Amino acid sequence: MRKKQFKAESKKLLDMMINSIYTNKEIFIRELISNASDAIDKLYFKSLTDNSVSLSRNDFKIRIDIDKENRTLTISDNGIGMTADELEQNLGTIAKSGSLNFKEENAQDENAQDISVIGQFGVGFYSSFMVSDRVEVVSKAFGEEKANRWQSSGADGYTMEECDKENAGTVITLHIKEDTENEDYSQYLEQYRISELVKKYSDYIRYPIVMEMSHQVPDPEKEGEYITEINDETLNSMVPIWRKAKSEIKKEDYNEFYKNKFFDYTDPLAVIHTKVEGQATFDALMYIPENPPYDFYSKEYEKGLQLYSNGVLIMDKCADLLPDYFSFVKGLVDSADLSLNISREMLQQDHQLKIIAKAIDKKIKSELAKMLKNDREKYVKFFKAFGVQLKYGVYADYGMNKDGLKDLLLFKSSSGDDYVTLKEYVGRMADSQNDIYYACGENEQKIALLPQLDAVKEKGYEVLYFTDDVDEFAIQMLMEYEGKHFVNICKNDLDLSSDAEKEEIAKKNEDSKELLEKMKEALDGGVTEVKFSNKLGSHPVAITAQGYVSLEMEKVLNAMPSSNQGVKAQLVLEVNSNHPVAEKLKNADEETLKKYTKLLYASARLIAGLDIDNPTEFSDAVAELM
Ligand code: ADP
Repeated sequence: MRKKQFKAESKKLLDMMINSIYTNKEIFIRELISNASDAIDKLYFKSLTDNSVSLSRNDFKIRIDIDKENRTLTISDNGIGMTADELEQNLGTIAKSGSLNFKEENAQDENAQDISVIGQFGVGFYSSFMVSDRVEVVSKAFGEEKANRWQSSGADGYTMEECDKENAGTVITLHIKEDTENEDYSQYLEQYRISELVKKYSDYIRYPIVMEMSHQVPDPEKEGEYITEINDETLNSMVPIWRKAKSEIKKEDYNEFYKNKFFDYTDPLAVIHTKVEGQATFDALMYIPENPPYDFYSKEYEKGLQLYSNGVLIMDKCADLLPDYFSFVKGLVDSADLSLNISREMLQQDHQLKIIAKAIDKKIKSELAKMLKNDREKYVKFFKAFGVQLKYGVYADYGMNKDGLKDLLLFKSSSGDDYVTLKEYVGRMADSQNDIYYACGENEQKIALLPQLDAVKEKGYEVLYFTDDVDEFAIQMLMEYEGKHFVNICKNDLDLSSDAEKEEIAKKNEDSKELLEKMKEALDGGVTEVKFSNKLGSHPVAITAQGYVSLEMEKVLNAMPSSNQGVKAQLVLEVNSNHPVAEKLKNADEETLKKYTKLLYASARLIAGLDIDNPTEFSDAVAELM
């Protein structure tokens, strides 16, 4: 029989498993059992609609057999099985190519590689090579005549041959490694140890996991003596964790379940376990991860919760259960109100499902609000990881969800390093302040340097710092908060001056009308207006925007690939009327005025984070002046 080679990437991963420094080798049992359970699920689903499946719910089981003499541990299931092709596909290659990309990204850190790959992807079947030096898989796919035997002793390849097997299903035999100085492999041949591991990792599996157990019992014939009784025992309780009473579940149970089920290697930031009765009756167990999943920002990422009907999985990622702004939430919903063999199309229409989705949305919001109130530090951590999603939520769907989300937003501000909510901002507004002020920029440091900021801060007003692209769009959608409007301090209509000051500056502008007009012409359509301002503190110039589109919005819209290219903010060049440059301009001859105007405009653009058309001209002009 010819030996076949593993695909290159599978070989790498296999090598890693075999030589694993991963300390948690025992997880192989969890991986094999969950594969078996998935395979049974598949056949069970089939049995609901296909009469040729003769098994009923109670016939399905997973068996574990230990043969100490031959050092084998066998895990069998009567699930859907695999065809020869499937055996090759599934066990000869790693289907999830994502795993390798991820590994490469983390190539610097050997240790992280090991753990993250195992943790994130549950490389499943391959983990059996951590404890065995040979693995044999005999599998018969449901509906096929013949079975196949797949065998491998590791990275040098595998063999396949046809064989016989009575019923559909899969039998996996691990030839357990010999003990070494550092590693006790024989523990995986001990009944009590296996039983312990099954309880630890696979207690909630819905099919019985059966193993022969021996017990010492009193001998009925000879008083005081004991005999060994051997019985098949079901090792798992089969009660899914979400069905248990909350008081029965420890934090570790929740976390362990999360990590196994949703392939994360860090504990979740928060657990939401809720039992709802009423219009819809369901249990939901949801998790907020500590970090965005590795593929969260990729197109491949699919949001959704697992959907169970009375403990039976009917859909792996039910997207309708989660709004986009909560797409990072992992978890499941179990409801008796849903019919079992419901199709995807029908699900979308399902009234019951809509009620559940609404209740879930509300629950997540209220949990987050609670976290914000009671555990600020944790909430900040959450917001740093997923806050942007909530902001998109405010903006998306024409602001349909803004009211439910606005109090969950956090912003940095001019008042220090701490985040502030809109409620807190409004709560501490100065008496004379009517609006909520904000400024946009690439980061907090750059915003703090904006010329417009000083005047607002001098008044004692706090300014929110918007550093995410979506911030200003979200706020435009909100329009107001508790009756206060949002005002961009870099917009032209911001005016904090007194009536007298307003009058004075209006007069200055009127008197210099001709000069300002010439300056505008010099900029050749670059701005819609040049004017004197008294709002710039000690800074000579600034650029502001007129109308709806702000500078930040222009940048964001133009960075987007499609439709919005060419959107332009209407720019105004403001010159500080109290700055010595104002006098210089008034006294300059026509040529010099042109040059000065261009210089001031270019530097104002740079301050605002915009680029300039001709950096060389700018630099030449500066040098010439010097
Ligand atoms: P994962 O379970 O994460 O997909 P595995 O390497 O554990 O990765 O398994 C790869 C595939 O092999 C599974 O997705 C499944 O299709 C198939 N498979 C594994 N074990 C079994 C089994 N006991 N019965 C049927 N199919 C199986």
